[in-house]
Amino acid sequence: MTSATIIDGKAFAAGLRTRIATQVATFREATGRAPGLAVVLVGEDPASSVYVRSKGKATREAGMESLEYRLPADTDQATLLALVERLNADPAVDGILVQLPLPRQIDAQAVIQAIDPDKDVDGFHPVNAGRLATGVEGFVPCTPLGCLMLLKSIHPSLSGMNAVVVGRSNIVGKPMAQLLLGESCTVTVAHSRTRDLAEVVGRADIVVAAVGVPGLVKGAWIKPGASVIDVGINRTEAGLVGDVEFDVAATRAGAITPVPGGVGPMTIAVLLRNTLVSAGRRAGVAINE
Ligand code: NDP
Repeated sequence: MTSATIIDGKAFAAGLRTRIATQVATFREATGRAPGLAVVLVGEDPASSVYVRSKGKATREAGMESLEYRLPADTDQATLLALVERLNADPAVDGILVQLPLPRQIDAQAVIQAIDPDKDVDGFHPVNAGRLATGVEGFVPCTPLGCLMLLKSIHPSLSGMNAVVVGRSNIVGKPMAQLLLGESCTVTVAHSRTRDLAEVVGRADIVVAAVGVPGLVKGAWIKPGASVIDVGINRTEAGLVGDVEFDVAATRAGAITPVPGGVGPMTIAVLLRNTLVSAGRRAGVAINE
């Protein structure tokens, strides 16, 4: 029996993409050019190829220019850094995304740090992590920003809520915790060394699970009425599942995201949003967020 509101990330992302497309049209009229997103893929990792293809398609559908760079798997670091430098200097490029993971011979941190922070629409550059931590305008990683948008669709104010983020990666857990702190939540970040995760999760008004372990967060741990955001995408024999034991959690939570169809579709929509915002900042055109 499901009692929770199921948060429809697919519909929310579709609405966001429509609003972005409208603003892209306004930007094009004002500047005579389309916002440009450069996506770099090194090698032929099948999952990465799928992501890059969907990002390109979504970018074009929003009326933006998609520039795709596919480099062979044996590309050396100097070649990739030279491409990033070229994209940094190219005025038609508003956003640069280097698809991770990168092949072993390339130091991903060196590449992330080579991207101009003002074109870093993935929000992975340490400058943008620092801006987020200090409350300065920059770029926020797409997945956690998408999670925050979904949460705010349920609770316009998160102030004073107990939030527990399970996972502390640089791309999801840590920026998520910073965003929730920025919304005046009382934030706990749990990870693999956390003692008594059940008790920690049980105190949360908001749970964000970003672990990568199917069903790690048990439904019985969820405080009745809590909002649950499941970032996990795990391929199992039963299909795609999240990090939360959905069926049980949905009987206790006030609101919960499904997998698939919850957080997943938000990531690309926010990437488009970040690219539009970047174009607006660089061209001095106001963007309504
Ligand atoms: P990482 O592997 O980088 O981080 C996982 C985190 O989970 C780590 O901080 C780890 O702790 C913690 N963890 C692992 N095991 C446990 C445990 N038993 N109890 C508590 N914490 C644990 O993953 P990501 O952050 O990159 O991704 C997390 C999930 O989100 C994945 O399923 C991924 O596929 C998905 N994802 C989905 C996206 C989307 O929807 N578009 C985008 C990005 C990710 P420690 O630090 O101690 O090792």
